[in-house]
Amino acid sequence: MSIKDKPQQPRSRLIGNILLLVSGGFLLVNLFLPQLFGPQIPRVPYSIFIEQVQDGNVTRVSVGQDNIRYQLKDENGQPGQILATTPIFDLELPKRLEEKGVEFAAAPPSNNGWFSSLLSWIIPPLIFVGIWQFFLGRGGGGPQGALSITKSKAKVYVEGESAKTTFADVAGVEEAKVELAEIVEFLKAPQRFTAIGARIPKGVLLVGPPGTGKTLMAKAVAGEAGVPFFSISGSEFVELFVGAGAARVRDLFEQAKKKAPCIVFIDELDAIGKSRASGNFMGGNDEREQTLNQLLTEMDGFAATEATVIVLAATNRPETLDPALLRPGRFDRQVLVDRPDLSGRQAILEIYARKVKLGPDIDLKMIATRTPGFAGADLANLVNEAALLAARSRRETVAQADFSEAIERVVAGLEKKSRVLNEKEKKIVAYHEVGHALVGSLMPGGGKVAKISIVPRGMAALGYTLQLPTEDRFLMDEAELRGQIATLLGGRSAEEVVFGSITTGASNDLQRATDLAERMVTTYGMSKVLGPLAYEKGQQNSFLGEGGMNPRRAVSPETAKAIDGEVKEIVENAHQQALDILNQNRDLLEEIAQRILEVEVIEGDQLQNLLAQVRSPEKVAAGV
Ligand code: ADP
Ligand code: MG
Ligand code: ZN
Repeated sequence: MSIKDKPQQPRSRLIGNILLLVSGGFLLVNLFLPQLFGPQIPRVPYSIFIEQVQDGNVTRVSVGQDNIRYQLKDENGQPGQILATTPIFDLELPKRLEEKGVEFAAAPPSNNGWFSSLLSWIIPPLIFVGIWQFFLGRGGGGPQGALSITKSKAKVYVEGESAKTTFADVAGVEEAKVELAEIVEFLKAPQRFTAIGARIPKGVLLVGPPGTGKTLMAKAVAGEAGVPFFSISGSEFVELFVGAGAARVRDLFEQAKKKAPCIVFIDELDAIGKSRASGNFMGGNDEREQTLNQLLTEMDGFAATEATVIVLAATNRPETLDPALLRPGRFDRQVLVDRPDLSGRQAILEIYARKVKLGPDIDLKMIATRTPGFAGADLANLVNEAALLAARSRRETVAQADFSEAIERVVAGLEKKSRVLNEKEKKIVAYHEVGHALVGSLMPGGGKVAKISIVPRGMAALGYTLQLPTEDRFLMDEAELRGQIATLLGGRSAEEVVFGSITTGASNDLQRATDLAERMVTTYGMSKVLGPLAYEKGQQNSFLGEGGMNPRRAVSPETAKAIDGEVKEIVENAHQQALDILNQNRDLLEEIAQRILEVEVIEGDQLQNLLAQVRSPEKVAAGV
């Protein structure tokens, strides 16, 4: 037996003994003067304190130099539990408190005389010794051990710890629920899938606008499966110190693997996952890139059979993500969590209405009808605003009128973010989309019109018309391309036919129609005037010109003029065709638009029956 086997650290043991002695004395003093320390007041992080203030849960606050004590409201709004937090340098605090009408004062200076002076002698060395001990305890004591910033700050919610979130708490996003239900199965019984050799997906990306319930969904998946939930936000990775983010990712996955099966949830993935190619070249991206690389390594690293760790991530800007993140074995599944439609909004309102006392005149369906474009978070906010209004006028229950007023308030806020349509805009969008659908239903090769919706989707579109191809297509003929252009112009044409004026809403349609027409002329050689020549260099995608080069072959001014003329003619013809169709089907346009204004989405058989009534100009000419 060698001496090495016996760890001897006399220095640290000595310090340990001193610490024991000092804290023993401390304990003694503590026992004798219980009134000074009183019962232990629970301490919370400062951020939680601020959150509670902002949620209006705090009644009064006593702000001391190095201690803030505050009192929460209980369910009845009466002063309740007392908590403490350690203040950080926050000049905004008085303003925040004032805004929420919180009573606050500075804490009286402590005058414990001899005792506090005694403490001021004891505590500093104690802290010093404590820190020393801490370093020794961390073993290595290297930079990683010394600076705890590299440790993951992931919050862990284990099932049963707090009120469990389940799918019942999420409404209006049924498709997403169905897809995620499968993930729940994976987490519950991974063996069932691995036994037959199926690979369990590692990463699922939740995509959708802010406030649609992505975070909520991720928690619900953990809740349904009854597994631990590690949550961290992408912006928390972005750190001052290069390498800290990467270390944090490593640590997060280490923790997660120990608790498998479990879920790792990365909120705001775009904060770390921005495409490296499109990133700025000014430097300063090192940190993010390292973090991203570490994330990719971790996701590749664990075999699905070894531990079932499913990484869920959320983003509202999927287009900015690095393509490396979306490759198989990483976030290869994407689930759309979109804004709810009419019935979805009603379902969400029902969830939140249960939490407030409603008057007899409440009509949730009506409220849902009046809130197109609202995301789940907006609806939750709406119910709360209405309840606040009722409480302010000292009524016992929330009335429909409160909701009306609350809608106006919330809408005013959202309109600024251009997310909600007013009545007139909604009408224009309805006719516009029906215009696309009517023209599209007659055009060859465009596929079946499967759905018309005036629920704002994604980031930019106000409404949309979905055309599903009936089969895979690789080649398109000239007539089909012309048909596509006409369909694209159908929206704007409907605005012209119905309102006699045009809005800015069709710009994207026009862009696409013009691009298509230009490609017909310059790439596909479909113009009689210009002949079968390729005026475009390279691939189809060259209209962005890789590296900013002029994508077009050197052409004479006459040819350039001819190209422009041909493109214009194709688009104009298609425009006229669309106008003709819509004029011929004016009644049907009206009927479908009115129906869609009522229900917001038309699809399936109902839509097919309506579109079957569309009459083509040829049929009309033939007197059918
Ligand atoms: P996101 O992560 O998509 O931005 P969150 O999940 O953070 O949205 O949603 C914020 C809050 O809004 C949730 O905590 C919940 O109260 C409410 N909420 C949002 N979407 C829904 C929904 N589909 N069903 C029920 N509540 C929702
Ligand atoms: Mg979120
Ligand atoms: Zn359009």
